[in-house]
Amino acid sequence: MAFKLPKLPYDVEALEPHIDSKTMTIHHGKHHAGYTNKLNAAIEGTPLAKKKIEEILAKVSKHGDAVRNNGGGYYNHSLFWKVMSPDGGGEPGGKLGKAINDSFGSFDKFKEKFAAAAGSRFGSGWAWLVVKKRGKKLAVTSTPNQDNPLMDVADVKGTPILGLDVWEHAYYLNYQNRRPDYVQAFFNVVNWKEVQKRYNAALK
Ligand code: MN
Repeated sequence: MAFKLPKLPYDVEALEPHIDSKTMTIHHGKHHAGYTNKLNAAIEGTPLAKKKIEEILAKVSKHGDAVRNNGGGYYNHSLFWKVMSPDGGGEPGGKLGKAINDSFGSFDKFKEKFAAAAGSRFGSGWAWLVVKKRGKKLAVTSTPNQDNPLMDVADVKGTPILGLDVWEHAYYLNYQNRRPDYVQAFFNVVNWKEVQKRYNAALK
C-alpha cells in the first residue's frame, strides 16, 4: 500500500503570524506531497512497499538515496505538522516537563539548546528533541537534509518527539535570512500535548 500525504490538522492560515499561509500551502501541498510521491515511486514493486515507514528508516543505509531523502521527507513533515498547533506554545508540564528539567536543567536551557541546534545546522536540515535509543534519555540533536534520528545513519539515534524544519523552504517567504527569528516563532506554536503523547509512547 502506498504512503498517503496526511491532511494538515488545521487550516493553512491557522499558525499565523508565526508561520504564514503561503508557506504552509506550498510546504504541505508541494514539498511534502513531492516527498510522498517520490517515496512511493522508489519503493513500488519492492519488498519495502509492504513495510512501515519506521522499519524502512531503521535500515535506510541499505536502500539508496531516493528512499533516504524521500522517506525522511515523508516522515519528518508528517511529524512536523502534528507537533504544531494554533493553541500551542507555553511549557510542557507533567512527566515531559520533568524530563526536560532533568535533562537540560530548565525549560529555558532546553530552548537555548534546541535553538542553537536549529541555528547551527549548516544548509538544510532539522532540529530534534529525541528520546535516545540507549537509556531512554532526552537529547537535542540535528540532522542534515531529510535525515532523522530513526535512521541507522544518524549520529544520535532515538525516537523524535519534536522536530523543526530548518530548510529555507520552511521560512524564507516570511523570514528571508532570519532563521533565528523563525526558530523563536516556532516555540509559540509547539503542540506540547502531542509531544507529551509521543514521549509517553517512546518510553514503552
Ligand atoms: Mn520541509
